[in-house]
Amino acid sequence: MSAPKEKQNIVVIGGGIIGCTTAYYLTHHPQFDSSSHTVTVIEAANLANAASGKAGGLVAAWATSSNLAKLSFDLHDQLAREYNGAELWGYRRVRCGQLTAVVPQRRGTSKLESSSPPNIELGKWWARDLKKSSVLPHDLDWFDNESAQAYEEFADTSSTAQVHPFQFTSSMAKLAEQSGARIVMGKVECINCCNADGSSESPSPLTSFDNLTQKKVVSVTYVDKVTLEQHTLPATTVVLAAGPWTPTLFPKVRIHPLRAHSVSIKLQRPVSAYCLFSDIRLGDSRQTVGAAKPISLEIYARPNNEVYICGQGDRDIPLPAPGNAVEVSSDSCNDIINAAMSVSEELRNGKVTGRRACYLPTLDVGASSDPLVGQTELAGLVLATGHSCWGISNAPATGKAVSELILDGRVSCVDVASLDPRRIR
Ligand SMILES: Cc1cc2nc3c(=O)[nH]c(=O)nc-3n(C[C@H](O)[C@H](O)[C@H](O)COP(=O)(O)OP(=O)(O)OC[C@H]3O[C@@H](n4cnc5c(N)ncnc54)[C@H](O)[C@@H]3O)c2cc1C
Repeated sequence: MSAPKEKQNIVVIGGGIIGCTTAYYLTHHPQFDSSSHTVTVIEAANLANAASGKAGGLVAAWATSSNLAKLSFDLHDQLAREYNGAELWGYRRVRCGQLTAVVPQRRGTSKLESSSPPNIELGKWWARDLKKSSVLPHDLDWFDNESAQAYEEFADTSSTAQVHPFQFTSSMAKLAEQSGARIVMGKVECINCCNADGSSESPSPLTSFDNLTQKKVVSVTYVDKVTLEQHTLPATTVVLAAGPWTPTLFPKVRIHPLRAHSVSIKLQRPVSAYCLFSDIRLGDSRQTVGAAKPISLEIYARPNNEVYICGQGDRDIPLPAPGNAVEVSSDSCNDIINAAMSVSEELRNGKVTGRRACYLPTLDVGASSDPLVGQTELAGLVLATGHSCWGISNAPATGKAVSELILDGRVSCVDVASLDPRRIR
């Protein structure tokens, strides 16, 4: 008689879109069996509390990294069809355009002139001079025609969609929970390891001095959010999906978090489904483009008469501890609101319903902007992090790849060689 298989305890650290989508794919994998596997997601604050609840929600087959983007676009589509994503998380196809707008001087733009907006690109696009053509698509009727200097279609609905990131992440968590995952609110303090060769030594917290190749993961220690009691949870595999906080638990990964502000505006009527990369400049509409320093905004029409707008990034305020509030600059939010309202009457007539800030998990690994997805040198530690400006789009392919790695022992849905965490030295 063969010995009973050892129970596999999988602990996912982080209840953002990457952690929750990974838990979904783990619990929906054909090999998943609740009698031999446990899946526990541990989240320090609330599910989708960070960037995953505050992002724009653009989903693109043309996103980076290209390894994940195409598969992820298809998986988003599949999930939306299977679970009525249109209703549950605002899934729909959108057109994506890039435009240059010039704010007429008469429109009280002194506020725009006096601001010094954050100016680090989030990375989805780079403002570039477009061929001058003031023609907006006929259905993009919520943008002032007189302000638009140039417009170019960036991508159409065959390769571009959107989701409401908070609703999508919460839905993934709920579906994972319904299929056997456990969600725990608590802050992970450390990942504990012991010698990989089984030689006796009691488990100890992972430190930056450990020789990773000689160790294996055995448990995680967390502090319960409500009771403040400390617990240690056995783990055969840990998936570290802590976004910008990843280095606090695994210092080998260097993340250079980028703060970005966003606002939401409720409109008086529904507007057409466009996501716009806009470059807004001050001046007279007859002036040549390039006269003033532009403000770059991503402007996303959403279902339910809402428009979401985010600006560029800054590194003015360091990342707070996981679970702690992110400092929101009212100046940065006002800059976004003033710029957006100066080029759209629909927005001027709308009501600002949200002002927020969050951090992009931007990797500090030279030119490569690919996330880290896969096994580390430390047995039992899998990374799913560093998704920068494309985590919403790339979450399903990431989750599926990680589920295959853990439950099949290899990733077959996509080539993840270039995402291998062992590439960082
Ligand atoms: C303004 C803005 C707009 C964006 N727009 C888009 C977009 O349109 N499309 C797109 O694809 N991407 C977009 N992004 C990027 C996207 O939001 C991120 O790539 C994605 O949310 C990262 O998800 P994550 O799960 O890795 O990290 P996070 O969302 O940061 O989640 C990490 C979670 O881990 C938890 N955690 C951390 N440490 C611990 C610990 N020790 N114990 C327990 N829990 C812990 C945190 O509390 C947090 O909830 C945007 C980002 C920003 C800032």
